[in-house]
Amino acid sequence: MRLEDLDFQTSYADLGGDFSTAVSAEPAGEPRLAAFNPEAAALLGLDPAEASRPEFIELVAGARLLRGMRPVASVYAGHQFGHPVPRLGDGRALILGDRAGWELQLKGSGRTPYSRMGDGRAVLRSCVREYLCSEAMHGLGIPTTRALAVVTSTDRVRREEIETRAVLARMAPTHVRFGTFEYFWFRHHAEPEILRERVGRLADYVIDRFYPELRGPDRYFAWLREVCERTGRLLAQWQAVGFNHGVMNTDNFSVLGLTIDYGPFGFLEEFDPGYICNHSDTEGRYAFGEQPRVGLWNLNVLGNAVSCLMSDAEVGEALHAYEPAFQAELSRLLRAKLGLRESADPALFAGLFGRLRDTRVDYTEFFRDLATVGDWSPALASKYATFTEWLTDYRARLESEGQTWTSAARTAAMNAVNPKYILRNYLAQAAIDRATGGDFGEIEKLHRILSRPFDDQPENAAYAGASPAWGRQLEISCSS
Ligand code: AMP
Ligand code: MG
Repeated sequence: MRLEDLDFQTSYADLGGDFSTAVSAEPAGEPRLAAFNPEAAALLGLDPAEASRPEFIELVAGARLLRGMRPVASVYAGHQFGHPVPRLGDGRALILGDRAGWELQLKGSGRTPYSRMGDGRAVLRSCVREYLCSEAMHGLGIPTTRALAVVTSTDRVRREEIETRAVLARMAPTHVRFGTFEYFWFRHHAEPEILRERVGRLADYVIDRFYPELRGPDRYFAWLREVCERTGRLLAQWQAVGFNHGVMNTDNFSVLGLTIDYGPFGFLEEFDPGYICNHSDTEGRYAFGEQPRVGLWNLNVLGNAVSCLMSDAEVGEALHAYEPAFQAELSRLLRAKLGLRESADPALFAGLFGRLRDTRVDYTEFFRDLATVGDWSPALASKYATFTEWLTDYRARLESEGQTWTSAARTAAMNAVNPKYILRNYLAQAAIDRATGGDFGEIEKLHRILSRPFDDQPENAAYAGASPAWGRQLEISCSS
């Protein structure tokens, strides 16, 4: 469809003034399209050819609305690095409207009543990182918000340095966070009737639209349990692929179990549970190895915020669904990463991760190499010499399942779950540097590569493998 033919609903805005505030964008000056994702456009029903029209660029820049749109900033709260913050909200984002099951949001569209001391803007660097990473996660099969487009502008923004302003258009069925529920708890916990009404209204909104299969008298409990399970599975996916979110505050946790709010994220180079991608996280609260624990911590906060809708026993029971969901998914993923067909083997996993941590080989590259272990060149065999003992166990395990050491089928199965291409910081940085100079080709190229991360793509081999030394030293902070 053409832009003029798209009609939007205002489902979230229709929840009323307790949940969001009408706000107009502060349009970005002289916008240029820096990135556009035809796949996301198709989800909205938008003809990708429309992206070349100035009207589309104006839409993303915050200078134009489409039929039915009524922009609002949503209010939410959160626990930031463990500290309660009773009121946050979309300080620089606007919900434009929704259609076809997707809510369209601008990020970096200017000040809102929730901006606090912020300028309401986003920088090109962080918009490109979120654009690329959310689409990379989608390519990896990990639930995530989607990215539609980025526009850059001639506006300048002050962070540690003067940077280029940009706006990201992103999409999710809903952007409701754990922190959205927390807001009402903070605000009304001394007024049980109002609290129940607000939290119930929000929960019903979420359940009716996004968990319709759970409708019924027990819906709140069933929903909380489902959120716990989805979050458990999400965290297992992060751990298996080596993704470090960086800012696992409860306001950055989706009630749909999606990865949301990409800031200082990083993918592991070598396997290191102590890896901290966020240089602002001096205590390592959100270190890679802490993530599963923090996921549960965040769910406890959500459980508390919605406890007015069910008994304490039900909250407890729902929370108990997290750990088994996480463990089952992690076992399933690790088994697949190793090409094992049958039951998971905790000792084999533990032995492997011990080796990976001690030898500091590249985590992503290792699993691709392991897929061809039966045909290793002498150079590869010597690179992984310290794994010899573990490989003996691995081989025995494969053979006990009736698999062979050299099996094209196993290689293919492992390559279908172990990515060759991940968004290493240095790759994102190269795309950002070029985009800052007005050349957006590298964003598109990286997006294309990362949209099929399991494919060999020999022509793009330079994008696979460990980062060069300079790329490992990049410092990524919360500033965005
Ligand atoms: P984030 O670190 O992006 O998850 O943001 C945490 C909170 O700070 C959210 O409420 C954001 O809306 C708000 N925020 C972040 N950056 C800005 C900014 N430049 N202007 C206004 N609010 C911001
Ligand atoms: Mg956030």
